[in-house]
Amino acid sequence: MTGNKKTKIIKNIKIDINKCNGCRACEMICSAFHAAPQYSGNNPARSRIRVIHYPLKDIYVPVYAGEYAEAECMGRDKYVIDGKEYDECAFCRASCPSRDLFKEPDSGLPLKCDMCEDHPDKEPLCVQWCYVDALTYEEREEEVDEEEVKLEDVEIGLESMVDKYGLEQVMDVVARMSQKE
Ligand code: SF4
Ligand code: SF4
Repeated sequence: MTGNKKTKIIKNIKIDINKCNGCRACEMICSAFHAAPQYSGNNPARSRIRVIHYPLKDIYVPVYAGEYAEAECMGRDKYVIDGKEYDECAFCRASCPSRDLFKEPDSGLPLKCDMCEDHPDKEPLCVQWCYVDALTYEEREEEVDEEEVKLEDVEIGLESMVDKYGLEQVMDVVARMSQKE
């Protein structure tokens, strides 16, 4: 079955590792923008971008928070950059039970980059605050099935509800709603 096609904007942040100087301004602004209330404080542990650092070679690698992974991976990836081997999970984007990265420190809820969708500017804040242009924003249009777009809207809506009210509360409401049917 072929459904109706719709144009979808794919947002993309390009990361140039060679330009990153490790200033961590991206972490500061991301955590401040997502603080409650907004801009009330900044804490890199709440940021949806983290800068991984290897001091001996002065390499800084910005990593964005991706999907939540319920279980640890069965397989692992190892990166070698300039001859230095990094920890297996160093550049993984997932929030997962095997490490503390990309977890809201108070609640333990997973953090995920939302491309600053609540901000009026098109360009995400971490990109705007990166003064050496290690992060650059690009977008392109792609044709997708209408259903796919709707499903993604539902996912984004659920994620922001979980962000706001917490996973347990959202699950309680869903359980109550399904009992009513
Ligand atoms: S703001 Fe730019 S240069 Fe600074 S740590 Fe982030 S990516 Fe690197
Ligand atoms: S795009 Fe926005 S939400 Fe994502 S890491 Fe950058 S500042 Fe944070």
